[in-house]
Amino acid sequence: MSRFRMYPTPQQEQQMLLHCAHARYVWNLAVEQHSHWYKSRKAAPGFAEQCRQLTEARRDNEWLGSGNADVQQQALKDFAKAKHAKFTSGFGEPTWRKKYRHEGFRVIGTDRVPELTDDGSARLNAKTGKQVMGRSVLVQKLNRRWAQVKVPGCGWVRFRLTRPELPRAKTFRVTLRNGRWHVAFAVIPEPVEVPGRGEVIGIDRGVKITAALSDGRKLNCPQLTVKERAQVRKHQRRAARAPKGSEQKTAAYAKVARLKAREADRRKDWCEKTSTMLARTYRLVRFEKLNIKNMTRTARGTAGQPGKQVKQKAGLNRAILAQGWGLLRQRTEHKAPGRVEDVPAPYTSLRCSACGWIDKNSRKSQAEFVCSFCGFTCNADTNAATNVAAGQGGIPRPRRSAGAGGMTAATSRSSIREPQPTWVEIPLF
Ligand SMILES: [Zn+2]
Repeated sequence: MSRFRMYPTPQQEQQMLLHCAHARYVWNLAVEQHSHWYKSRKAAPGFAEQCRQLTEARRDNEWLGSGNADVQQQALKDFAKAKHAKFTSGFGEPTWRKKYRHEGFRVIGTDRVPELTDDGSARLNAKTGKQVMGRSVLVQKLNRRWAQVKVPGCGWVRFRLTRPELPRAKTFRVTLRNGRWHVAFAVIPEPVEVPGRGEVIGIDRGVKITAALSDGRKLNCPQLTVKERAQVRKHQRRAARAPKGSEQKTAAYAKVARLKAREADRRKDWCEKTSTMLARTYRLVRFEKLNIKNMTRTARGTAGQPGKQVKQKAGLNRAILAQGWGLLRQRTEHKAPGRVEDVPAPYTSLRCSACGWIDKNSRKSQAEFVCSFCGFTCNADTNAATNVAAGQGGIPRPRRSAGAGGMTAATSRSSIREPQPTWVEIPLF
């Protein structure tokens, strides 16, 4: 995917907002329609049937009928894709789209170009022997810095060209977020070449240091500065004190949103640069396996059993999510497919990377690691990263369930075990 910032004129912006509204309306109709289906009922209408229904709806509804049919149909296509990928996408069942929050629409290219096969020759129809024509998005380069793309109903819309080449895609998606328009062309980039003499690198992700590498480097994800954070608090305070529904309240919240968007931009930029560096430099990248979803669960508890230290846990969750752990792993995998591995996380931070001894007393503090067996001294994060690089998480935790014959009763043993002379079989160096 290649994404660029878009700069529409006020008239174009109005038209694009209307496209967003239509796409959202159609998507939400599809969500509602599918919510009426349950297991024993015959399958819910698919894409083709929904398209027929859309044509009918456009005839009955004047507002819908005045919109662009392609934009509305692509919203259905997006829905069908989301529905299909509900087990693999990580987002689950498609849900409602909200005004101002999920603004965007997809445009299918109107230009026709001859399709080529993998070896560069023309693709011919098997029956008729004619050239197969594919769709293509209409884009034009204006100069070194600017280009424009054709959006239905808007004509040419300019975007900032931040790559040397114009993107070639069949479709693109326009989004509006935090008052900024973006265009994302659907292109699958070539994977980064495998470096000739690349090594294996282990990465330990933490809150203090975002990514500690096994070669001793420590990479930190940029966040808001102290000054910017003070500004966020100031505007939040003003928003809280402003009268309900007032202009000041909206303005203050908009300022908070802009600062938060800046933080997210910085995080994303850092993840992109770091993952490219990892993919270009190393043959194999190993991450410790984290279940971020479980790690950032709330401590709130239930009404009957309220949790403890809810505020502290919420703060930790925010800190974890501000590190972009998941994005770094995901983008590295995209750029280096098949060259990213997950290492089981238990004990990576307690195991001595020199001798393999696992002892919780070895970790003296957040940053210090001194092996209680061989005396090896190292930065705790680097030590963990070295373990990850070696693919060593230590021995797995004692299993609760017996192999065949059912469950064994849970023992009263603490999950933190007393130090035991455990040697890991595979030598490290
Ligand atoms: Zn040791």
